[in-house]
Amino acid sequence: MTARRVTIAGGGLAGLSLGIALRRQDVPVQILEATSYPRHRVCGEFVSGIRPEELSALGIDAAFSTAAQHRTTAWFDAERPLLQHALPEAAHGISRHQLDLALAGQFQDLGGELICGQRCTHDAEGTVWASGRVKQDGDWIGLKAHFEHLEIAADLEVHLSDGGYVGLTRIENRRINVCGLFQRSTPLSSDSPDASALTTAVRQVGLPNLAKRLEAATCDRDSLKGVTHFSLGWQMAKDQRLRIGDAAVMIPPFTGNGMTMAFQGALAAVPSLVAWSRSQREWSQTRDDVMDTQQRLFASRLRWARALQTVLLRPWGRRIVPFLLRSGCVRFDTLYRKLR
Ligand SMILES: Cc1cc2nc3c(=O)[nH]c(=O)nc-3n(C[C@H](O)[C@H](O)[C@H](O)COP(=O)(O)OP(=O)(O)OC[C@H]3O[C@@H](n4cnc5c(N)ncnc54)[C@H](O)[C@@H]3O)c2cc1C
Repeated sequence: MTARRVTIAGGGLAGLSLGIALRRQDVPVQILEATSYPRHRVCGEFVSGIRPEELSALGIDAAFSTAAQHRTTAWFDAERPLLQHALPEAAHGISRHQLDLALAGQFQDLGGELICGQRCTHDAEGTVWASGRVKQDGDWIGLKAHFEHLEIAADLEVHLSDGGYVGLTRIENRRINVCGLFQRSTPLSSDSPDASALTTAVRQVGLPNLAKRLEAATCDRDSLKGVTHFSLGWQMAKDQRLRIGDAAVMIPPFTGNGMTMAFQGALAAVPSLVAWSRSQREWSQTRDDVMDTQQRLFASRLRWARALQTVLLRPWGRRIVPFLLRSGCVRFDTLYRKLR
């Protein structure tokens, strides 16, 4: 019997990693990607909580070979040092410009069909929606750019404030990713940000010294990207689509775990999709299995992440959390695990 073809709407991390894993099991796969490669994306580009076994089960470990390895973090309340802590395990720093391109090439090398510049509009059986955030009225604006000649206090430097937070981390070639999540009251348009958009937003959320550091460094103008109209949490659309990655759920970015969830959602979908492709399972059952597995995998970390983000965006929260950590009432490693 001929294997049924899986169509993936969206060639971001979720779609490409799923496509690669399915091709390694000889499943025919077509990915429709609305844009092209390479491209810059709004992302902190700090990948944490993914296990090496998960990367090799997907077959994508080689794409991380040039990633920077991160161990240390430094947290700031606005610009006042709050806490320095080592990560319990290494995280990776790699640009989406490089990572998505490498995965797209690998997918094609494995015989996958990648069609760029085409938006998926159909909802036939066998379609997986890996199309990223669901556009909706949301509370947040995301902005990111790459910088050179910028020193950072640790492998990951995070500045928290009432209006959002900004992370700085090293990616390949010693460049620094600067990425912020800002409350939508921040008066700026991020759909087509101009060169000063990021520093303006950083200043507006009460981080003038960080803004000065960014102005003194060299910004790669092409890497500056913005995103609006999204909400964090489950992307509960009233449709019967099989969704993975941000199309299913968006965790608060301070966790550095969204990309990992995209990979883990893809990995969770592989057995059911292989069975469907071999006509061993109905589509409705395939969809329900994949969505249920993601609920099981992600529900708890999402609850912790949302609660912790709410606390960290308040002045009292930025006093209590470091106090609990310093006094030993709460362990950094325990919180880290709850978010993964
Ligand atoms: C401000 C901010 C900072 C972040 N920082 C981090 C971080 O440091 N670490 C981390 O792990 N995560 C971070 N994330 C989250 C991370 O970026 C996402 O979780 C990750 O990109 C999800 O991958 P994805 O493949 O689901 O979606 P995407 O990477 O968004 O890919 C979706 C793809 O689908 C395409 N597409 C959309 N609609 C269609 C269609 N109809 N047909 C065809 N193609 C379509 C799009 O062009 C896109 O290429 C951050 C997010 C934000 C907003």
